[in-house]
Amino acid sequence: MSKDADIIVIGGGIIGCSVTYQLSKLGKKVLQIEREDITRGAAGATDGVVGYHTKKPGAQMDLAVQSISMFEHLSEELGEDVEYGFHCGGMQPVEDQLQWDILSGIVEEQRKSGVDIRMISIEEAREIEPMLAPDLKGALYSPTGGKVNPIKLTIAFSNAAKKLGATVMTETEVTDLIMEGTAVKGVKTTKGDFYADAVVNSCGAWAANIGKMAGLNIPIQPRKGQLIVTEPIGPFMDVTLQCARYNVIKFRPEAVDDPAALKIGNSLSIEQTETGGLIIGGTREFVGYDRENSLEAIETILRRAVRFFPALKDICFIRAFAGLRPYTPDGLPLIGKVNAREGFYIAAGHEGDGIALSPITGKLLAEQIVYGKESYSLESFDPNRFPLESA
Ligand SMILES: Cc1cc2nc3c(=O)[nH]c(=O)nc-3n(C[C@H](O)[C@H](O)[C@H](O)COP(=O)(O)OP(=O)(O)OC[C@H]3O[C@@H](n4cnc5c(N)ncnc54)[C@H](O)[C@@H]3O)c2cc1C
Repeated sequence: MSKDADIIVIGGGIIGCSVTYQLSKLGKKVLQIEREDITRGAAGATDGVVGYHTKKPGAQMDLAVQSISMFEHLSEELGEDVEYGFHCGGMQPVEDQLQWDILSGIVEEQRKSGVDIRMISIEEAREIEPMLAPDLKGALYSPTGGKVNPIKLTIAFSNAAKKLGATVMTETEVTDLIMEGTAVKGVKTTKGDFYADAVVNSCGAWAANIGKMAGLNIPIQPRKGQLIVTEPIGPFMDVTLQCARYNVIKFRPEAVDDPAALKIGNSLSIEQTETGGLIIGGTREFVGYDRENSLEAIETILRRAVRFFPALKDICFIRAFAGLRPYTPDGLPLIGKVNAREGFYIAAGHEGDGIALSPITGKLLAEQIVYGKESYSLESFDPNRFPLESA
């Protein structure tokens, strides 16, 4: 069977677009297939935090350090402004002693990766963000790290890939994989069959569905996050801010004793976009592929925003949306070759960090596919750490 491309990339989210771009940069002929349109998955329903302080200490933080260093030159490299806000910093205000103790422990671990993250008093925090409520206990502060426009970045990866020769098919659903024994040879789609030397599964929260087509059990499930957007206002804040409960729910959920917060995994995240609107979130919910907004979540998010920024009490919100984070059981993405299926690779499972980790994921996976070895070890993210063949 003649091949249609060197590599087929399934999924048109930020990860699939980054992989397509990096493979094209290394001279490969890439066919990317997306069932809706570029950015219709999580990349189009997300915040744009590119910070260190929300990363799991250890391997994920080390990968983030590699990735974030790539952001500084992305607009120039891709030829489009991706609105990367350099070093606006990140902050997590703390409400009580328990949160202070938990965050201090996490910060100590995070600092082992050589990043500048520290605990500061509420007075210092209010010097940086004067609108913060004065009755808070203090804050985690990370002066470096920034924010990006995730939609612009995804589109910029895609446009740059196309300029290098990639073909991008949208409104084309992959319905099955073409197998020869245990080898993956191509894909069946709603627009015909396509063959290649290798197939990359970058379907985010839907990656397990593609895995089933290869007889694999990929342990990724959707974790919904709800966000609201306010009317544009004047300059309000610089940092990207989450409440301390964000890291506590992410890394130490057993320490949260508020049943209402646990039910929808609610914690505050807030940042101001270039056009002046605030993006305020969020939730962490296991509700399958449901992407509806709920009044319960919107009300909780707004109450939480006013708790930390009392001046927001009269602000109008103009829309709400929800996205599906690709959750994995150990909090780390799956990036690399599947040993049990020749020609099959995964780049998925980035949960709440896929925007920040997108540049490095594409780069390292492309190197692994093209050179057989990546320039920075992907060992901790090896998909084969899970029993994939237990389907
Ligand atoms: C509320 C919220 C806030 C977040 N905040 C941040 C943040 O501040 N910073 C950060 O770094 N990350 C954040 N994230 C996480 C980030 O958005 C995700 O990790 C990232 O977008 C995942 O990208 P992806 O390309 O893997 O998946 P997606 O963007 O979901 O792309 C997967 C694509 O696969 C396509 N697809 C599925 N099945 C098929 C098929 N059969 N055939 C063809 N195509 C198919 C889908 O249509 C989709 O377009 C947030 C996420 C949410 C939901």
